[in-house]
Amino acid sequence: MITMKFGGTSVGDLQRLQDVASIVQSYVPERPVVVASAMSGVTNLLLETATHALHRDAEAVKKNIESLKEKHLNVANTLLKDAARHRELINNQTTLIEELANLYRGVSLLKELSSRSLDAIASYGEILSCLQLAALLKDYNVPVEFVDARTLIRTDHHFGEASVDFDVTNRNIQTLLLPKVEQGIVPVITGFIATTDDCITTTLGRSGSDYTGSIVGAALDADEIWIWTDVDGVMTADPRYVNGAKVLPEISYREAAEMSYFGAKVIHPKTMMPAIEKNIPIRIKNTFNPSYAGTLISKKSGSSGSVVKNITSIDHLSIVSIEGNGMMGVPGVSARIFSSLARVGVNVMMISQASSEHNVCFVVPQKDCERALAELRKEFDIDLARKMIDDITVEDQVSIVAIVGEGMKGTRGIAGKTFTAVANADVNLVAIAQGSSELNISFVVKQAEVRKAVQAIHDVFHLN
Ligand code: ADP
Ligand code: ASP
Ligand code: MG
Repeated sequence: MITMKFGGTSVGDLQRLQDVASIVQSYVPERPVVVASAMSGVTNLLLETATHALHRDAEAVKKNIESLKEKHLNVANTLLKDAARHRELINNQTTLIEELANLYRGVSLLKELSSRSLDAIASYGEILSCLQLAALLKDYNVPVEFVDARTLIRTDHHFGEASVDFDVTNRNIQTLLLPKVEQGIVPVITGFIATTDDCITTTLGRSGSDYTGSIVGAALDADEIWIWTDVDGVMTADPRYVNGAKVLPEISYREAAEMSYFGAKVIHPKTMMPAIEKNIPIRIKNTFNPSYAGTLISKKSGSSGSVVKNITSIDHLSIVSIEGNGMMGVPGVSARIFSSLARVGVNVMMISQASSEHNVCFVVPQKDCERALAELRKEFDIDLARKMIDDITVEDQVSIVAIVGEGMKGTRGIAGKTFTAVANADVNLVAIAQGSSELNISFVVKQAEVRKAVQAIHDVFHLN
């Protein structure tokens, strides 16, 4: 049994949808279980339209709903051959889009847009997409059944990026989905979406369909979990930004998790977790080039010849520094910093503290920085007034660069080589961190200089 997740680009246009249908058809003997995303661009469109609704920009809302409708109905009208099936799909999609328009109306009337509403709105992308993929697969004589993941995947109420309750979810998948697969049915499951125990729609975070793929694959004890996308596999760097990036044939779960956490968009960081528990290999494959083996992600790190496997970067970050002589040797300062951030739900991406303890700095998403800063000033107001802490400062528009590879552990000179390359590229280092796992070295540079830094490191380790 193979779980196959198809990303937005794989179901994003007429040609790709036909390719996906052929791929699934050819794997029917292997009992595929299909998970799919919204058509590419649709989730962004849905969320952007919600903002227009909030601002009561009725024209923009109307225009976007029209374009959403056209995009989906065009697939039905062009690709579906069976008349009854065509009619049924058009009816279903039209009803869904009317429902969605009502949600937008609600947002406009109430002038309120919560993360709970955003999840409800975003869920339409996957539902519309999977309904049409299921209909198309029926035209290809694949014995499919559309499955709304909300009947299977149970989460908490953390809207926008909910946490999965694996006890309930695994039980649901085993009792509701497995019997279908055993009967020879090919389920087409909506990625990304889930529900709480009181049936409120949640999402698993942006790009969360990858995670759905591995949740389902692990619960079914699949032989492999395949993530179909628009590149040949996990590459040494983001191919959009780095010249000479090449495909890695094999990487370990830990390397994949580390890379994706530090910005390799090709796979969602949580995807590895369910697979690790059951030791199920994940394969990244290209819908545009299906015969290519892709990248195998498993326990083994593989031998690519280089200890550094991959260079990633994340933009739109801020670095916050807290400085003061009064911090030296005082226990609990770090605890207070990170508790404050946790209270306002801000995720810390990197931490660095020199051994003098005179300065602690950490990196947060720029969009959360103001919230973080307000809470920190509240927490440390007495310390600031007494000059125990001199100041809390922020630099916006910075990026984290991370170099990842299991072989870095115990290999000398990696950091030296990295930072020399960065210096030779005339890029200034703002802060540095290395986890004691030695699986990754990360550092902060100005966002304007990040491409230069990434390319320089990619070149110096001969990853091309
Ligand atoms: P999907 O719609 O299939 O989920 P995504 O756009 O989420 O696809 O992810 C695939 C994209 O990730 C690729 O097109 C590529 O530009 C980008 N990417 C970033 N870093 C890497 C990397 N290290 N290896 C491969 N692709 C990467
Ligand atoms: N459609 C969702 C998103 O754009 C989930 C996914 O594509 O994986 O984030
Ligand atoms: Mg993706």
